[in-house]
Amino acid sequence: MDKGSESFKSAVSATVPGQRGFDYLIVGAGFAGSVLAERLARELGQRVLVVEKRRHIGGNAYDRYNDDGILIHPYGPHIFHTNSADIFDYLSRFTQWRPYQHRVLASVDGQEVPIPINLDTVNRLYGLNLTSFEMEKFFESVAEKVESVTTSEDVVVSKVGRELYNKFFRGYTRKQWGLDPSELDASVTARVPTRTNRDDRYFTDTFQAMPLHGYTRMFEAMLDHPNIKVMLNTDYRDIVDVLPWKHMIYSGPVDAFFNFQYGKLPYRSLEFRHETVPQEQFQPVGTVNYPNDYGYTRISEFKHITGQVHPKTSVVYEYPRAEGDPYYPVPRPENAELYRKYEALADATENVTFVGRLATYKYYNMDQVVGQALAAFKRLMQRHADAAQAGRDASPLAAAGRTPAQA
Ligand SMILES: Cc1cc2nc3c(=O)[nH]c(=O)nc-3n(C[C@H](O)[C@H](O)[C@H](O)COP(=O)(O)OP(=O)(O)OC[C@H]3O[C@@H](n4cnc5c(N)ncnc54)[C@H](O)[C@@H]3O)c2cc1C
Repeated sequence: MDKGSESFKSAVSATVPGQRGFDYLIVGAGFAGSVLAERLARELGQRVLVVEKRRHIGGNAYDRYNDDGILIHPYGPHIFHTNSADIFDYLSRFTQWRPYQHRVLASVDGQEVPIPINLDTVNRLYGLNLTSFEMEKFFESVAEKVESVTTSEDVVVSKVGRELYNKFFRGYTRKQWGLDPSELDASVTARVPTRTNRDDRYFTDTFQAMPLHGYTRMFEAMLDHPNIKVMLNTDYRDIVDVLPWKHMIYSGPVDAFFNFQYGKLPYRSLEFRHETVPQEQFQPVGTVNYPNDYGYTRISEFKHITGQVHPKTSVVYEYPRAEGDPYYPVPRPENAELYRKYEALADATENVTFVGRLATYKYYNMDQVVGQALAAFKRLMQRHADAAQAGRDASPLAAAGRTPAQA
């Protein structure tokens, strides 16, 4: 072991011979792994080893200060939003917040107009002066009749018609997924609402805020417990047979866990191009989408999102890619089918709990992953309680993490 050797030594020395070793081996220090590590250590006094193959905690939500001292999100802009007071309250134990409502513009026909499509989008695009009521009529007049809505194309053309679909959705979706919207599940564009009012917020959730000092500081606070050891730069496979543990929480890709025995689950990847420019502001809002031009889908400017004041500014361009780190599960029926085969294997793996975005092959936002992890914790806690009542140790623990997000 090279860079990980110090943490390896400290992890080994934490397993004092004759003592319990680690109760839990947690693979991945993103939201799924960190929430479970925190809960198991703090609530149940369990000894937890978190193993992370990257050189930092936080998973894809990791943030850091770049060479110019600007707080950036290396894996693309992460905006926190949730409707769950429980999830927001839970995270509030580890961070203060800065209220932030994300706004997105789309560059279309030489103009930058609000997305989701709202009253201003249509009025500015067509030089009109419609009211909300007239806008409803406008949508009705352009919407296409679709017998059964099954694809992403169906969702959009049946709501806003073919012209707006072509301007805002078709090109963006083709770039993002490498597939035409007619080839993708309805769920992909079902996430993009349209509005007949002037509301230009990207999200409408009750709680919309950014961790005041960033995500990484929040993760540090979560993992700061004497029962939690964190090993960075380490693939869990390097230590899984070396260090003693009783139950595993796995938040990596489910197909990799089972050595891709049914084949690879398809993912869409991204390449991020970060740039710092010597001006205070680059663009008017946090994100500008480019549905029709350029190889990138969008540019995000971090200072809008973090609220940082700095004479320079940092932006990130996102280029969708077929190969690379797994970011977005590709929502097609045959992929869901393939996942179900891995899910069956996961169900049959008694002493491993599969939690998080990659382990359950779902597009989950951060709050949903927190909800899923808290729900998995409740089930594990119940097992500990049952085992204590039966007068035995609570291991091996059966899989407890694969149901949909719930707080
Ligand atoms: C570009 C982009 C933008 C996003 N924007 C938002 C947003 O604005 N708002 C929002 O709510 N959500 C957003 N998300 C979703 C958010 O990133 C996820 O919901 C969240 O990070 C998932 O947490 P997780 O713990 O499940 O997975 P991850 O954060 O991916 O953590 C899993 C960890 O496991 C580690 N790992 C994997 N295999 C191994 C192994 N073999 N050994 C050791 N470690 C391993 C990985 O290195 C990783 O750090 C975005 C995602 C992307 C890709």
